[in-house]
Amino acid sequence: MREMKTKHCSRCDQTKRLKEFYNPGRHYCIACERQSAKWRMHSKANIAATAARNAAKKAAKFGVYSDLTADDVAYLFTISGGRCSYCNRLDRLTLEHLLPMSKGHPNTISNCTAVCARCNQEKKDGDFLDFLEVRLRHREADELMHQVASRRGVPYRNVLAEFVEEQRQWNNERIRKIMAGWAAEEATG
Ligand SMILES: [Zn+2]
Ligand SMILES: [Zn+2]
Repeated sequence: MREMKTKHCSRCDQTKRLKEFYNPGRHYCIACERQSAKWRMHSKANIAATAARNAAKKAAKFGVYSDLTADDVAYLFTISGGRCSYCNRLDRLTLEHLLPMSKGHPNTISNCTAVCARCNQEKKDGDFLDFLEVRLRHREADELMHQVASRRGVPYRNVLAEFVEEQRQWNNERIRKIMAGWAAEEATG
């Protein structure tokens, strides 16, 4: 029987030629070993700096107030204890804006938290209060609101009302723009 010169990589789950492994005894292919080494070298500080830079770019794109620093992001990641603010799983964390910048909300520490990639993807630019009510268990929601209240320097009982007010302001602004558009159309049409 001819020897099969392939091996399965348990990280990327692909079957590759043997020469794509450092040696036949390795569980991961060379590409995966390099990638994980790169990841390990990518320090927490770098991750925070990258997240802050990307958030600042997005803030500029949407024209929203922005003062989130790399230190702020590092702080958020640190106080999370490595756990997602939404689902409480231990996971690699990403920066999350509670109220989305795409809807006019600021790039500030009091509007941010750290969540896993899965939750980040799931919420996207959706309504935060809906997400809080439908998706989060009481314990996670409560903990998150306590953190946000302390970052905003407001009493815990006021924090949900602030979110409601901020979403209402954005909705009013949107309605005003739509109405202005209609008025302009009427004037020209
Ligand atoms: Zn691989
Ligand atoms: Zn999560």
